Amino acid sequence: MDRWLERASEKANEAEGRAKVGCVALSGPNLAACVTNLQKTHPRQLSYAKKAGLPKKASLHAEISALLKSDDLVDTLIVARVDKKGNLKLARPCPVCELAIETYPNDIEVWYSTEDGFEKDERFSQ
Ligand SMILES: [Zn+2]
Repeated sequence: MDRWLERASEKANEAEGRAKVGCVALSGPNLAACVTNLQKTHPRQLSYAKKAGLPKKASLHAEISALLKSDDLVDTLIVARVDKKGNLKLARPCPVCELAIETYPNDIEVWYSTEDGFEKDERFSQ
């Protein structure tokens, strides 16, 4: 697991813009996607954002991007956010991503960064 936490953190450093978020999606033991958030909007992101009542959150979040990019069914998401210096910051999924994760056709275990390391998101644990 540690190497995937590391991988998500590294990916976050590649993100452009102010919010630097990276996300690793796993399907079983395999890497299914490793992406950053994007500045540009995406129709699927907007669709979830409208359903969540937050239509302004239309730029593609890393969690939703990872789910869209994965060819295989995802069972784990690891989300990391870093500041300009590469320090880990809180990356608890927002309500829009929460909706996307909840309505995904598989149970997903979610880990997100905090300033003190990674935590499991209890909202999605069974
Ligand atoms: Zn989000």
